[in-house]
Amino acid sequence: MTGPGADSDVAAWARGLGLDGLVDIHVHFLPERMLAKVWAYFDDAEENYGMPWPVHYRLPEDQRLAALRAMGVRTFAPLVYPHKPGMAEWLNAWAREFADRQPDAVPTATFFPEPEAARYVEEALRSGVRCVKVHVQVGAFDPRDDRLDAVWGMLADAGVPAVVHCGHGPLRGEHTGLDVFARVLERHPALVAVLAHAGMPEYDAALHLVQRFPRVYLDTTMVGVPFTERIMPVPDDWPARLAGIADRIVLGTDFPNIPYDYATQLRAVASWAEADDRLGEPFLRAVLHDTPAKLLGV
Ligand SMILES: [Zn+2]
Repeated sequence: MTGPGADSDVAAWARGLGLDGLVDIHVHFLPERMLAKVWAYFDDAEENYGMPWPVHYRLPEDQRLAALRAMGVRTFAPLVYPHKPGMAEWLNAWAREFADRQPDAVPTATFFPEPEAARYVEEALRSGVRCVKVHVQVGAFDPRDDRLDAVWGMLADAGVPAVVHCGHGPLRGEHTGLDVFARVLERHPALVAVLAHAGMPEYDAALHLVQRFPRVYLDTTMVGVPFTERIMPVPDDWPARLAGIADRIVLGTDFPNIPYDYATQLRAVASWAEADDRLGEPFLRAVLHDTPAKLLGV
């Protein structure tokens, strides 16, 4: 069960678990010019985050896709998100075109509190989008905004998962915090919500929302890896806390913008599986494949 030592071991490791590949619900692909800006931001990470953040997969798009495929990632959700109004619809068009080109990428969408949001999210859902992403800190908006009420309702009705970055990590925002997003869930309790980064650093609050709302999930993105453990460690009893909710955890990684390799994330997940007898390989099959495949409908 010990995780893969290097990226070159990942595909064989997944096969050894009896999987036909991995399903990753949280990766990022962006228009090239925008990605260059994101990477420039990470280049200034000492200033922005107070620590260096060397992007591990700083490669041309075709090589990033090849890296995922070489590791046996059979399906992934390429997530996009806006930081200002008037941008989401353009990103959605790009994500649609990207998924048309890359059959292992599911079509995704995003939104922003703006008058057109309900219309373009409805169009995205009608066109077959399988996952949406919302970034409360980067977008700097309140997820309870009135203009989003119809959007959350549509997503809940459609059963399409929303990967929501609403935690305080790595940076706080004016509207971050699981207590804020809990209000959205109270209003839309059927929403399929994937709490990005397992709500980092409010892991306790995230687990509590999983208990309260049957359609809330946690993604593993950057959780439990050495880079994060130094600043936002999981609780000591994390593996035991996952035992009753093994079917509510899904693989996410933040590929390619991570300051370590993909295998490192998988080793963190494998270490939880190993730490509690109630988890083990069935937990890994659920997290790395079955549950994210169910959410994405693949
Ligand atoms: Zn992300």
